[in-house]
Amino acid sequence: MRVGLYPGSFDPITNGHVDIIKRSFGLVDKLIVGIGISATKTPVFSFEQRQRMIEAETGGVAKQKGVELEVIAFDELLVDVARQNGANIILRGLRTAADYEYEAQMTSMNRSMAPEIETVFLPATPDVSFVSSTLVRQILAMGGDISPFVPRSVLEEIK
Ligand code: ADP
Repeated sequence: MRVGLYPGSFDPITNGHVDIIKRSFGLVDKLIVGIGISATKTPVFSFEQRQRMIEAETGGVAKQKGVELEVIAFDELLVDVARQNGANIILRGLRTAADYEYEAQMTSMNRSMAPEIETVFLPATPDVSFVSSTLVRQILAMGGDISPFVPRSVLEEIK
């Protein structure tokens, strides 16, 4: 059984994340979306809100594709989270060369700690490759329109 772990902050989920999650349904039997919660950072959206938005947006497609979807919170080492949850694949999205540099380094360190877990990179789809949660939060804070960048569940949560 292929169990993927897709970690991130998802504060909030964007069209870029939705794209990666839906594409990953073709690769795994079960997908665990891991929401990183750090004791030192205060998110804009609570874990429960982030979980609800991810499930609302991707749960239906997961069911259609016969993929089990689980959304969890984590604050431990990624390879430990993967092992504890029976994941054998870590999924990451790649937007830019800068993403790659950072991810490649992290992947190598994860591999030396947990050689049995494979990291799979999915290249961002060009029309959403510029979208980031950080910029969405900044636009939101300035009262701008984030609707081109996030799925409907985020707009509903904000309402
Ligand atoms: P962000 O970098 O937007 O704050 P996260 O830290 O939650 O988002 O990112 C989680 C994962 O999703 C990372 O692997 C990141 O590279 C990937 N990702 C984020 N935005 C996109 C996008 N627009 N297209 C493809 N992958 C993305």
